Amino acid sequence: MAINRTFTMIKPDAVEKGHIGAILEKIAASGFRIVAMKLTQMTKADAKEFYGIHKERPFFADLVEYMTRGPIVAAILEKDNAVDDFRTLIGATNPEEAAEGTIRKIYANSISENAIHGSDSDENAAIEGAFHFSGREMF
Ligand code: UDP
Ligand code: MG
Repeated sequence: MAINRTFTMIKPDAVEKGHIGAILEKIAASGFRIVAMKLTQMTKADAKEFYGIHKERPFFADLVEYMTRGPIVAAILEKDNAVDDFRTLIGATNPEEAAEGTIRKIYANSISENAIHGSDSDENAAIEGAFHFSGREMF
């Protein structure tokens, strides 16, 4: 498998609960190299754009509220097969369905407040990474 990149956010619930360090440990132990990383907070406009694909869904307003209520850790990560391996590491959207040992199984509150984001394709990884980082912030 080729080396490629994915994009992640440690979401406001996990930051509030003090899980940044533990989650980064797990990401590093799984072989991902950090290409870019920052603590930041999305505006309502940012979150509406970032999650634009979900704008017709019933949970959209709550999702925007949740994702903007506090800081997140945004990062670009690199590894062989990064997108798929990272989705495996974080687990299913609903923590009740997530495999044992996955980040969502351990740290998520619910299907809505689920601790962490991971891109679902190489194309979206590039779009999402570029949404949060300029070229000068990628290493
Ligand atoms: N979400 C929600 N309710 C749902 C499904 C999703 O609140 O029924 C939220 C949740 O925070 C999720 C995000 O919307 O992570 C994006 O949904 P998606 O289906 O893309 O899940 P993901 O790719 O994050 O696993
Ligand atoms: Mg998704």
